[in-house]
Amino acid sequence: MTQIDNLNFPELLTQVVGAIENLKSSYGEFATHPSMKSDQAKVSAVLEELTDRLENNFPYFHPSYAAQMLKAPHPVAVAAYLATMMLNPNNHSIDSSPATTQMERDVLKQIAAMFGYPEEFLGHLTSSGTTANLEALWIARELQPTKKIAHSADAHYTHARMSEVLGTTNVSIATESDGRMSLDELEKELKTGEIGTIVATLGTTGLGAVDPLAEIIELAKKYGARVHVDTAYGGFFKLIADNHLAPETARHFAALKDADSIVVDPHKHGLQPYGSGAVFFRDISIGKFYKHDSPYTYFISDDVHFGEIQLECSRAGASAAAIWATLKVFPLTEQGLGSALIPTVNAAKNWHKLLLDSDSLMPYQKPELDILTYLPRVDSLTKLDEISHEILVQAGSGSKAQQIHLATYIVKPEALQARGFKLNADAKNARILRSVLMKPEHETWVPALHNKVQEIARQLIR
Ligand SMILES: *Cc1c(COP(=O)(O)O)cnc(C)c1O
Repeated sequence: MTQIDNLNFPELLTQVVGAIENLKSSYGEFATHPSMKSDQAKVSAVLEELTDRLENNFPYFHPSYAAQMLKAPHPVAVAAYLATMMLNPNNHSIDSSPATTQMERDVLKQIAAMFGYPEEFLGHLTSSGTTANLEALWIARELQPTKKIAHSADAHYTHARMSEVLGTTNVSIATESDGRMSLDELEKELKTGEIGTIVATLGTTGLGAVDPLAEIIELAKKYGARVHVDTAYGGFFKLIADNHLAPETARHFAALKDADSIVVDPHKHGLQPYGSGAVFFRDISIGKFYKHDSPYTYFISDDVHFGEIQLECSRAGASAAAIWATLKVFPLTEQGLGSALIPTVNAAKNWHKLLLDSDSLMPYQKPELDILTYLPRVDSLTKLDEISHEILVQAGSGSKAQQIHLATYIVKPEALQARGFKLNADAKNARILRSVLMKPEHETWVPALHNKVQEIARQLIR
């Protein structure tokens, strides 16, 4: 089956490549240096080899890929990125990116407004969620050098690793049976007076769980701690929280406005290619920690250059252009980008319902966003691990059109027990199945995905 789309993608590419070539020629002709000359047939052959080699991939763009956090960017992002990349502006300084620095400012304003942040904030795009979180933790350390950073046991591993890089101590807080940070455990740590910053995750990478941010902010106030929110994955769900997520979940998204810092990845749910993260700070005075002198970069403007308020130096102006263009087509509203997120949540909800009624599969827990975890109905951890893996292998085999792609997730016996499963704990941990249903097309694909996985599970546990 081929993709049925209303956009003529090749035509859009021809449009932007032509426009940029015209722009270039408006500066007058010059001869390409012989060292840069290449043979059309040779380049074409290399590109043919490239596209052949790209066969060796999973179909991240296709709804049959219901595995990890991966999907193809929207064509508008690709065309905007390509057009801008041909000129290759660097959003490090205004000198090296007058147009795309302005686009980045526009984009940041829109994202900050989505979170309910005040008009004055400090923020910028980054190359990744990892870099964005590193900056937030670095500021946390600069503000309270002797204090610790607390995050949930299910937080992204980057927080523990970056604490190590920064030379700060991190504390892992246990999660409840819904995958959310335990408030009791958090308060115990806060009572020691040693916690400087709490990292809350809205949309954990494994389970898509939303930490109880509203209460975390209250506790932080009570004990004089700061709050950083990692919404690398979940941030854009703010657009649909009030009308399409559980009221309890929506309440925590509403609390984002009070967080000291926030990270979101446009390359996860913002339809962007990789290389697109963002970090926001509520208190603009933290800009002083970024202060540095650069004898060669900042010339044409006294306005703030992104290079003066970020850890990275060079950064693709094309990334800013790609989001800017994407948000023109899919604005940050429920009807805009939100309309691509509602079906992902429905997909997870609907598959969860099917799993409750299945004779061979069951849900691990109720999905809060669009990440679903589930397992075969077996009686021991050893079998659970073996059969989960076998389901993944069998689902992914057969012809390309028959394959469906799933992921696994490792759980401990205590986590299974906490969710009411009574399995013989004959192993230290076991794999269960996990599907990130992040493409809106997943909504209509769920029954077929479920039937196929269920059929395989039935055969294996019979
Ligand atoms: C993906 C993710 C990260 C890491 O971001 P990268 O963009 O992959 O570097 C951090 N935290 C959470 C919650 C994530 O989902």
